[in-house]
Amino acid sequence: MAAAADSSPFRVVHTVCSHDCPDSCAVLVTVDGNGRAVKVQGDPGQPVTQGFLCGKVAKYLDRVYSPERILYPLRRKAGVEKGPLAKGREHEAFERVSWDEALDDIAARLQQVSDEFGPESVLPYSYAGTMGVLGYGSMDRRFFHRLGGSQLDRTICAEAGGQAWNFVYGKKLGTPTEDFRLPKLIIAWGANIHGNNVHLWPMVEHARRNGARLIVIDPYKTRTAALADWHIAVRPGTDVALALGMMHVILREGLEDRAYIAEMTHGFERLAERVREYTPERVATWTGMTAAEVEQLAREYATTRPAAIRLNYGMQRCENGGAATRAIAMLPALTGAWKHRGGGGSLSTSGAFHWNKRELERMDLALDSPIGRPARVVNMSLLGRALNAETGDAEVLSGGPAVKALFVYNSNPGAVAPNHNAVKKGLARADLFTVVHDLFFNDTTDYADYVLPATTFLEHDDIQGAYGHYFVQRSNKAIEPLGESRPNVWLFGELARRMGFTEDCFRDSPEQMIRQALAIGLDGRSKNKGMEHISVEDLEEEGHIPLKCHREPDGQPFKPYTEGVLATPSGKVEFYSEALAAAGQDGLPGYVPPAESRWTDAAKRYPLELLGRKADNYMNSTFANLPGHRKMEARTTQQLEMHPEDANARGISDGDAVRVWNDRGEIALTAMVDGAVPRGVVAARLDWAKLSDGGVNINALTSERLTDIGAAPTFYSVLVEVEKTEGLP
Ligand code: SF4
Repeated sequence: MAAAADSSPFRVVHTVCSHDCPDSCAVLVTVDGNGRAVKVQGDPGQPVTQGFLCGKVAKYLDRVYSPERILYPLRRKAGVEKGPLAKGREHEAFERVSWDEALDDIAARLQQVSDEFGPESVLPYSYAGTMGVLGYGSMDRRFFHRLGGSQLDRTICAEAGGQAWNFVYGKKLGTPTEDFRLPKLIIAWGANIHGNNVHLWPMVEHARRNGARLIVIDPYKTRTAALADWHIAVRPGTDVALALGMMHVILREGLEDRAYIAEMTHGFERLAERVREYTPERVATWTGMTAAEVEQLAREYATTRPAAIRLNYGMQRCENGGAATRAIAMLPALTGAWKHRGGGGSLSTSGAFHWNKRELERMDLALDSPIGRPARVVNMSLLGRALNAETGDAEVLSGGPAVKALFVYNSNPGAVAPNHNAVKKGLARADLFTVVHDLFFNDTTDYADYVLPATTFLEHDDIQGAYGHYFVQRSNKAIEPLGESRPNVWLFGELARRMGFTEDCFRDSPEQMIRQALAIGLDGRSKNKGMEHISVEDLEEEGHIPLKCHREPDGQPFKPYTEGVLATPSGKVEFYSEALAAAGQDGLPGYVPPAESRWTDAAKRYPLELLGRKADNYMNSTFANLPGHRKMEARTTQQLEMHPEDANARGISDGDAVRVWNDRGEIALTAMVDGAVPRGVVAARLDWAKLSDGGVNINALTSERLTDIGAAPTFYSVLVEVEKTEGLP
């Protein structure tokens, strides 16, 4: 979409921010006559973006044109060992090669590994470094299916909560972002709206101007918590107890919606029996609240109309995160909050986007691979174990071959994967062939045999949905790729050609793949459920088009959970899950303290609960290398936030150097004795290891223990001890 007069040397291109954020903003990029992007701004015509971008992306041209970008394929120099490289001097370990040379050699090495150890010894590793439908998962999936490479279980972020929500409602849908203007009560539960869901914030402010109260439930005093009417600093991993305690009060006082329960839900009697034991007094003991506060919260929630809960993925990163998500998700069904427009809640809207993955990913190609079947699945949250496991390992490698080649794109596991020291040890293996496709040198490229230059969303075509709104959006290439950087679709198509894969799908262009993603039929419109009104041409013209489910007249409640049949086994909202019970799990949510929490024996050695929290101005590890973004996060860089009583008990004062450790590792930080965490909890921000003192980040302390549902990481169920030191030598 070009929106400038013909005589102007500038043109404006519609793109979509592809970073891992619920907002999926429509971004207008102004490009000058030399083909250089000179301005990025939020699209004022997109109802959620509303014409503004977050602080991270408002400075996006700093990232696109950073002098630190990798612009050419690089190969590790002979004799240079894998391991941490000094920031700014990484180039010294690599030599520039042509794309042809790099691709020919990578294809030959993958073939060699595949022939010698079996194709499953090749492990792809990617996540949501780009959320574009093509960039996230299309040509890459075709490539690895045809190769017979291991499949990756992409669990690292949202799997516990996502699966848990689906056990209750069948699909991840929720109150539209725009409708958050309407509630009289908003509960942000593990959701730092002001920090990393910023386009919801104007809706919250609108609601507050109309008298709504904002309650934040979060162990950390986020920006959102600081602005709330009531911040409940619940202890990590006790969210499920709090939600069940609220249910106890709601049922005890007869505040439930019997009509909604009878019509729309399944398993109420069992749930009612379960919550009887969750008295406010017991819940208070676990959560750190008073019994009166538990009662007040429950009453306020159940008697205010409309009431909406914005969950985000923070609270599902505890060992019991699946149970917590299920319990919280059940609250609006218990009170009938879905019946009131603006009421209900949202974890994600991603369940509304039915992309044509069969065509995009071509799982059928696995049948033509050397193993003739879909390959084994490796959980990305167990990367440390997977890289160090021997052939035949049953738990992580499904009894198959050891990992001999690792292909990383859209992710930086050297920084973000749990159990950092195990990951580092695995990445450092001399016999592991590692390729990384990225924009910058980072904690993973330090271990790469090849580093390949990737594009930003300004430099390639894509199409995108969202997990925070209901718009399909077209992202157009605004500028030519810098240097020799190339997008994922091109990279895996070229590699396929060199591997001798002759299927036509490896020659598909991005434009063809956008049509495939939409399943465009003979009438020129999508055949995907909910997208039948969308054509490629309309999308090109308009930039964003709402899904069918989002074109309801004003005044209607949220239909998917108030009428018809839900996508659960019973067709109803499930308080009780027969599917979970059949799998040997608890059919009801219940509070089981995480193995690493103050209630377990492990706390005798390591009594403090650690939150390895995310930065407001980074996207996991993305942006952390840019000076402007680092400046915005300077206040908590290398800091350990502590409660005054925990600091006093250890003779620690604000500004003291401290050592934080457990059995998995240690990290040197500076104590910041502030009011950000409750007693017994400490917090430190995720950063790049190579930008941290001592070359380790907070993931040196996190474990590879998995969540109760979804086999996801437990970043917020971590015990540590802290002591004062003299600082780094
Ligand atoms: S990171 Fe999120 S809020 Fe920021 S521009 Fe991208 S989608 Fe919008």
